[in-house]
Order: sequence, then C-alpha cells, then structure tokens
Amino acid sequence: MSLLTIGTVAFDSIETPYGKVEKVIGGACTYISWSASYFMNDIHLVSIVGEDFPKDELAALEQRGVNLDGLEIVKGGKSFFWAGKYHNNMNSRDTLATDLNVLADFNPILPEKAKSCEYVMLGNLTPSIQAQVLDQLDGSQKLIALDTMNFWMDIAMDELKAVIARVDLLTINDEEARQLSGEHSLVQAAEIILAMGPKYLVIKKGEHGALMFFEGKMFFAPALPLAEVFDPTGAGDTFAGGMMGYLAMTDEISFENMKRALIAGSAMASYCVEDFSLNRLKTLDKAQVITRIEAFKKLMDFDFPLDF
Ligand code: AMP
Repeated sequence: MSLLTIGTVAFDSIETPYGKVEKVIGGACTYISWSASYFMNDIHLVSIVGEDFPKDELAALEQRGVNLDGLEIVKGGKSFFWAGKYHNNMNSRDTLATDLNVLADFNPILPEKAKSCEYVMLGNLTPSIQAQVLDQLDGSQKLIALDTMNFWMDIAMDELKAVIARVDLLTINDEEARQLSGEHSLVQAAEIILAMGPKYLVIKKGEHGALMFFEGKMFFAPALPLAEVFDPTGAGDTFAGGMMGYLAMTDEISFENMKRALIAGSAMASYCVEDFSLNRLKTLDKAQVITRIEAFKKLMDFDFPLDF
C-alpha cells in the first residue's frame, strides 16, 4: 500500500535541559516520513521548502523510498522555521518562533500518484492547506489521518474543525484535546471530538503514553520509560508516522490492528526522543525497531488470575 505524507519540512532551533541546537532539520512531514519508512517504502511526500534546505537531506529521504515529486522547492525562498524551549519536565515547551516563510504561499499540487494513495497522513500544517490536499484526493482512500497543534487552534479554529470533520483519525495531545473540546476530562473531550467527525481519536500524553478512542472503546499504549530523554521534538509526528506506516504495511483497519499501530508508533517515538533532531531516527534498522516493540510487549504483559 502507499502512504501520502503532508506537513512541514523545516529547520528547528531547540533548547532542552540537555543542550541547545540551532537550525537543525525538523518539520512534521520529515519526522512522519522517516518514521513510516521503517515499515513500508511507497511514500509520497507533499510539502514546500526554500532553496536553503540541504539537498543531501532530500537525497536521504529518497533513499528511504520517499518520493519527492510533490515537494516544491522555492527559488531564493526560506524554509519554515520553528524554535522551541522545553521546560525541565520535558513534557511542556514554549514556542519561541514560528516563521512560516515559504509556507505562507504554499498552494499544494498533488502529483497524479499521490492522489490515489490508500493511506494519508495530514501532518501539522495550516488547516486550509490540509483541506486543499483533501480536495485533490481521488476518493479511493482507506484511511485519512490528521495531526494538528494548539498554534492552529489559536488562529484558525473554524478551518481546523472543518477539516477534522473530513478525516477518519485525529491525533492530538491532551492539552489540545482540552482546547478543541472545551472539556477537561479526556474521556468527555473524546466524546465531543468524535462527534465532530473522526471515527478514531488518539490523544497523545507525552511520557504518559497515548489513548485511543473508537465507538465507545478505549485502548492505552504506554510510553517506554527511558533513562534519558534528550529532545521530545517530533515525537508526536514520529508516533503518527510509525502508526500510519504500520497500518499501510499491514493494510488492515480494525480496532485490534489500530492497537498494534499505536505500539508501532510508540516504539518509533521512543527512539526519536533519544537524540536531537532526526539523528536517532536516521540510524535505526529494522532489528532495532523489532527489539523496541518487544520491549513494549514485555512492559505491558501481565497475568492476573481472577479466581481469588
Ligand atoms: P512535535 O514535537 O511532534 O509537535 O513536532 C515538532 C515539529 O513540528 C518541529 O520539527 C517543527 O518544525 C514542526 N512545527 C512546529 N510548529 C509548527 C506549526 N505551527 N505548523 C507545522 N509544523 C510545525
């Protein structure tokens, strides 16, 4: 199966209690695509960068099976730039800069092959652009997922709600779920959000794992407790990429397979946070991915005789 990935391809400057990096490779779509590439390799990326984006980074994506026909490179343009600083608990952060640059004039044109991808991951991006991508799909999709963040809720809530109504799966973090629904309880928030349109909702809770809601059912995937978390940037996107890559690879959309996809995403995210930028994700191999999934199986495994 093929996967269409959309979102930012960007530069980030990041500060965590472990250090500071300037203008490193980031972007929601970059993390999604790298992560998905460990499960399948028919990936079509649609995004925009400036001429300043390193060519070898694009070549590395292509080597992972990511088709870049849908990547617009703007002559003389500057790529999207985001800067953030994490608090000591690493679970919350302040955005210091969001420079849209070439993203401000992005008008995505989907290559023919991208229009018929069975699986679609609309990564974090201007909601009206996410909608423009949906308008160009050929209608044959099996699963369309969307990720977003508080930034867009603050400045484009109506457009965001309109695009959420058109997707099958929404992934957001706990604070964003509260903002979107106006409810503090995540269970009640989930009910309100599912009534907005998506069949599946995944609420990410950082180091506290992720919750999935579907037709009155719930599933919880923990995050793997790690001795050191260097940089949580991109963990949500890496999670989404792993989840969608696994779903596209297995081509089965059921609550049971979604559970496995949540673990696949959690395993990839647990690697992402071990280093800055995409450094750790780029050095993985399939055996390491499998080892990490095994670690999750062990973490979640217990026997409890109920005949006491
Ligand atoms: P995450 O930590 O999963 O929220 O993703 C962080 C990545 O999202 C960074 O690499 C940024 O380049 C990118 N990003 C930050 N803010 C935005 C935004 N408003 N829209 C799209 N992408 C963003």
